[in-house]
Amino acid sequence: MLYTEGSFSDGRSAATYPARIAFGDDALIIRLGGEAAHAWSYEGLQSSHPVHPDEIVLIGHGDFPGERLQVNPVTDGHPPGEFARELIRRAPQLSRRAASWRLFVPMAAATLALVLAGLWLWFTDYSLAQSMARWIPEGVRDQMGRQVVAQLAPAGKICHSEAGDAALAAMAGRLNTDNANGRFNIQVARLKVINAFAAPGRNIIISDKLIEFAKSPDEVAGVLAHEMGHGIETHPEAGIIRALGISTAISVLMGGASDSFASIGATLLQMNYSRKAEREADAHALRLLRGARIAPGPLAGFFKRIDKKINDKAGGFSRTVMRILSTHPATGDRVRMIRQTGSWDTKPALSEDEWQALRKICG
Ligand SMILES: [Zn+2]
Repeated sequence: MLYTEGSFSDGRSAATYPARIAFGDDALIIRLGGEAAHAWSYEGLQSSHPVHPDEIVLIGHGDFPGERLQVNPVTDGHPPGEFARELIRRAPQLSRRAASWRLFVPMAAATLALVLAGLWLWFTDYSLAQSMARWIPEGVRDQMGRQVVAQLAPAGKICHSEAGDAALAAMAGRLNTDNANGRFNIQVARLKVINAFAAPGRNIIISDKLIEFAKSPDEVAGVLAHEMGHGIETHPEAGIIRALGISTAISVLMGGASDSFASIGATLLQMNYSRKAEREADAHALRLLRGARIAPGPLAGFFKRIDKKINDKAGGFSRTVMRILSTHPATGDRVRMIRQTGSWDTKPALSEDEWQALRKICG
């Protein structure tokens, strides 16, 4: 094979020129009419589509952008595919196999990275949102918290009374002596549901209905300690990041807080924490109760009573109760864990007078 016929375009116009193509030692030699020959080194040859003996060959060269050479294997005057086979032999990067490797290597790397990330997530229970939550600056967390609280428990629904506030402060002070776990903002709100929830920035809202449902201050203290656990672990912040979506959350965090939290409060209320998050909150609750010398049993009792209410399907009440269960599922495991924790000398969470004051905080 001395030479083959093809057509050449210089990329500057639509015109194509008949070309004679020969295989030189190191380069493809392309002759156009009377012009000096173009030499395309084999290693610089490129094709957007792998070269195949049965197909039209369309190649270019890295040193001459825009220039194109086309050879039709049927009309080049040689046995079909001969030119293409010789071309692949001299410039193996043009072959289908090379092309599939070029695609395969990055794809395999990406797949491997995904699999490894998946395994890592599986084994470490690592959560991206949770890690991001820990990096949110305190000021942004406060702002998130204020917006969420304003939405779920507007100012008009927050209850205050001198004796009630003092009782709540006394309870919180015992659980979190000298703000050892950060400064919490704990409020009672007049809400239609039995619920307690942690909002970002260590804000906690307890509903008046929950205090009404509780049989003792120890039960309220247990629930409060559990919510403090969520706050310490920044679970509410992570939940909001998940609800916003990671990318929105990043832009919000980069640009400071914004109205993006405005509609997120309701999501927080409906949010399910993972079992892991609940275990973490329980572990903190038991630690805080032990430090405060408050009995842990009532927390378990509280969960069990709520559980029972659900199973009784007590009319309209069950929907109300569902709320607290959906955010804090009272599984048998959790009750057992609380029950099995070691015992310690205990003192009621509040005196009888303080307890009565707390019960009347909403009037
Ligand atoms: Zn919880």
